[in-house]
Amino acid sequence: MGETLGFIGLGNMGYPIASNLIRAGYKLRVYNRTLSKAEPLLSQGAVLASRPAEVAEPGGIVVTMLADDQAVEAIALRNRELDERLGPGGIHLSLSTISPATARKLAEQHAQHGVGYVAAPVFGRPEAAAAGKLWVCLSGHRESKKRIQPIVDSFGQGSFDFGEDPGAANVVKLCGNFLIATAIEAMAEAWTLAEKNGLDRVRVAEMLTKTLFACPIYQSYGERIAQQQYDPVGFRLALGLKDVDLALQTATSSQMPMPLASLLHDRWLSGVAKGRSNLDWTAAALGVAEDAGLPIAKKSPTA
Ligand code: NAD
Repeated sequence: MGETLGFIGLGNMGYPIASNLIRAGYKLRVYNRTLSKAEPLLSQGAVLASRPAEVAEPGGIVVTMLADDQAVEAIALRNRELDERLGPGGIHLSLSTISPATARKLAEQHAQHGVGYVAAPVFGRPEAAAAGKLWVCLSGHRESKKRIQPIVDSFGQGSFDFGEDPGAANVVKLCGNFLIATAIEAMAEAWTLAEKNGLDRVRVAEMLTKTLFACPIYQSYGERIAQQQYDPVGFRLALGLKDVDLALQTATSSQMPMPLASLLHDRWLSGVAKGRSNLDWTAAALGVAEDAGLPIAKKSPTA
């Protein structure tokens, strides 16, 4: 292998993905806004860039795993340097959960420089990223998708191609996160209903997630919510609000009413307003407990 890749964004997800790429034999040139977060990767052979575009080489591949649309736009859209350095034959492999509209804008601008855009948002938390077990949704430039496939295979357990519309993979990602957010709200309400009726919420969660709801999301999130355990943080609550809002924006632009998403927006916004942005996004369940007049468990950091 031995190909050099650029990698921008070494947060909760970017860091373990970058580590896997190094393990798979890629050479990485990395950039992170907080440079110190890149340091452990340097001992694994990564080279540190002092600004984002510096990770790119002519005709090369740059992977981004940034927080949101604003961050991706700042690095890859408003600043043309990345496109200029990549040039014809270059590829931007974009793993962030961003709006389909932003993905389409990125693809259009990159194409003006001969750069291919591939959207590759992922399902799975940082533990899954570290284990190389992410599920990856792909869409975008056909030839570029072929070239990036081995990269995706080195951090994913499987990938699904949704065609050439650069926004398509992000639509799928938003559908998935909408389903997870509704499951979090539904389980928080169900476990709290059990508790208010004198039942052990953990036992109720165990029974239901071993039988009727025996699927990964209900089992892993169900246990966390039953135990009211919102640490360690895998996916920040502020990013959960971002995704609910992206689903709502996409719904608005496609004239698709999503009453549940509106309800989720208020739940997650209330969590942000109460200072819970940096708790895990399951901490939205604290709002359900508060509405039910229950004391917030002491193990919750912002209780
Ligand atoms: P994070 O907050 O841990 O990391 C975000 C990264 O973006 C950091 O490297 C930060 O330095 C960088 N960044 C943010 N704003 C920036 C800016 N303006 N300029 C330059 N860099 C900037 O987030 P994360 O959990 O790693 O998530 C990254 C992306 O992956 C998000 O789009 C998220 O929705 C998605 N995602 C997260 C998870 C998860 O479980 N954490 C799972 C699937 C997808």
